Amino acid sequence: MTAVDSNSHIIAAYRGRTAGSAELYRKAASVFPSGITHDARYLLPHPIYVARAQAGRKWDVDGNDYVDYQGGHGALLLGHLHPEVMAAVAEQLSRGTHYGAASELELRWGQLIQELIPSAERVRFTSSGTEATMMALRLARAFTGRGKLVRFRGHFHGWNDNMAFGYSDHFDGTPSAGVLPAVAENVLLANPGDVEGVRALLDEHDVAAVILEPTGSTFGQVPLEASFLASLRTITRDAGVVLIFDEVVSGFRVSPGGVQAHCGVVPDLTTLAKILAGGLPGGAVAGRRDILDAIDHQRTAASGRERIQHPGTFNANPVSAAAGIATLEIIRDTDACRRANDYAARLRSELNNVLVDEGVQWAVYGTFSGFHIFTNAPKLDVDPLSFDASKLDYATLKGTKGAAVPTKLRLAMRVNGVDLSGWPGGPVSAVHDEDDFERTVDAFRGSLRMLKAEGEIRI
Ligand code: PMP
Repeated sequence: MTAVDSNSHIIAAYRGRTAGSAELYRKAASVFPSGITHDARYLLPHPIYVARAQAGRKWDVDGNDYVDYQGGHGALLLGHLHPEVMAAVAEQLSRGTHYGAASELELRWGQLIQELIPSAERVRFTSSGTEATMMALRLARAFTGRGKLVRFRGHFHGWNDNMAFGYSDHFDGTPSAGVLPAVAENVLLANPGDVEGVRALLDEHDVAAVILEPTGSTFGQVPLEASFLASLRTITRDAGVVLIFDEVVSGFRVSPGGVQAHCGVVPDLTTLAKILAGGLPGGAVAGRRDILDAIDHQRTAASGRERIQHPGTFNANPVSAAAGIATLEIIRDTDACRRANDYAARLRSELNNVLVDEGVQWAVYGTFSGFHIFTNAPKLDVDPLSFDASKLDYATLKGTKGAAVPTKLRLAMRVNGVDLSGWPGGPVSAVHDEDDFERTVDAFRGSLRMLKAEGEIRI
């Protein structure tokens, strides 16, 4: 595999700087499958082991610092160790971490969701985004009395059984390992942007819900037109199908009220996590009161419907709630979303200028506070300055899984002091500053030159 290619200067340089991480990874191999704890952290020859982080940067155990574009897998719109968020967490830690009881914090946290997210008539906290999408689907099935779920190829909604195929493989809708065929048979995959395809599925099947990432998959890696969201809203409403916006990434990031506040299309249910809990674990499903009534003791008793049970040890955990409240208040009261969006727009533009300077036919694109680096595996004729991702299909835009060039790009960027997400690219925060910006631009130029020297880039 190229990533451990012993002739690569990039890999040699990476190994040379990260001996401490390599040693920890060697030990981790006998504890964790592949030595890692999240698929996105799998990068050969070894991951970096991070010891601390601050604002837009993090430091590994070897003392290297990185501009961080993992951003807590998207959770850290306000960067690492935001002082007000940390003060709220410290205050809560001194009062207890779990009461096994209701707290005023959960009320304030839920009210903030209602205030910011247009669809949130009612809110239920979960521990993660995966749990939120799982509950959203269960609510939709209970509400409609129907079984099928429509999803879009490439869209990710966590790792629960109904969502565990069709986002990076199994695009034919067959179940991935460990998922029952009976589960997959109840999930129908559509192509992103294909209104007619969805309409046909709604006509032909008993569909309970349509779920999507309203920015397009992986925070706009495969972009979607806003008009598609409006069309989906119309056809799902007409068919009595529950429309679920998975705003686990986009919520509180695209705008304080997520995509739905930005574009004015209000879904029936919304799933939230990441920024919601201010960098700690937490998620929520929010939406129409009549749908969330299925969890309500009195309302189900009154209507004679069977109630959906929903326990969960860490639902509305007070420490997560404290971090979440502080974070959402800052997002509500400041221009944090706009600052992150502006930084990302400037970064996309400047990185494209670097591509032009270096004569590399890639492109950096994206929307809001994200950037995606298209490394052009199919060797298309690409002009970085006029690249239009909406002209390419999901398979072309997402087809980099395990490929050598994106892997080496990420390693080279680390050698040059930048940690990209695996898209490759990343979410930016509201606290990335000019030093981070310049470091990123220089690192990109340096990394392109390293890749050229290894013959990995066609010019
Ligand atoms: N939905 C989307 C759009 C996501 O990006 C993610 C996580 N990356 C999830 C759901 C699952 O969230 P979690 O990791 O909190 O389970």
